[in-house]
Amino acid sequence: MPTDLAFLHDAYARTFDTVVSHVDRGDDGLGVALERTLFYPTGGGQPHDVGVLRWDGGSARVTDVRKQGDEVWHRLDGNGDGAAVAPPAGTPVHGEIDWERRYQLMRTHTALHVLCGVIWNEWGVPVTGGNMEPLAARMDFELDPTPEGFGARAESLVAAEIAADRPIQVSFIPRAEAVLDEALIRTKVNLVPESVAEIRVVDIVGLDKQADGGTHVRSTGEVGRVRVVKTESKGKGNKRVRIAVEDA
Ligand SMILES: [Zn+2]
Repeated sequence: MPTDLAFLHDAYARTFDTVVSHVDRGDDGLGVALERTLFYPTGGGQPHDVGVLRWDGGSARVTDVRKQGDEVWHRLDGNGDGAAVAPPAGTPVHGEIDWERRYQLMRTHTALHVLCGVIWNEWGVPVTGGNMEPLAARMDFELDPTPEGFGARAESLVAAEIAADRPIQVSFIPRAEAVLDEALIRTKVNLVPESVAEIRVVDIVGLDKQADGGTHVRSTGEVGRVRVVKTESKGKGNKRVRIAVEDA
């Protein structure tokens, strides 16, 4: 049974109730697939959530989350007693994500969208790659050479968009419609597999629009303060920007 990816519809939900669909005791560790989850599985440059699963008579920490096919697997570790246990298929479970970590990732992920938007508007170059951890991230751009004063200029442009407190809207649109949208074409909507009939769109209204399955905050004002920590060359036509996200 495909796992219902509840985080796609509500990034702010922290706890949920569902049922175990499968248990795997293989080499890769003890894990459970759930019918529904709020745990984000590693993907799209965003690392997985961690947290806790509880059920009648037991509990375990969720230490890794991965999507395999259309199911989300949650790796379980014991609570310090060394003995990991897993509830059998069909068991009702209650999940709680580590909200502090998730919210930091939501702010960081959104900061990267803001950075993409301002760099496109100012220098007209697309993103070539990126990655994030809570409150720190890097993103690569097709820049060559790095413009004079680039880091400081990018930082002040990002600060202005955060101060503008732009709303961030999530919607689901048919693929046939998404591939005609200029902003989505620019952010590589064509990389979404053709088998996906409906595209999730994350729109920082007036700034940046992407086909995206990650978790983001509701408005740019929630991001906090973004510092450009470093810019480095990763070869011809590829410059890396490192950012830190701080409380405002
Ligand atoms: Zn995103």
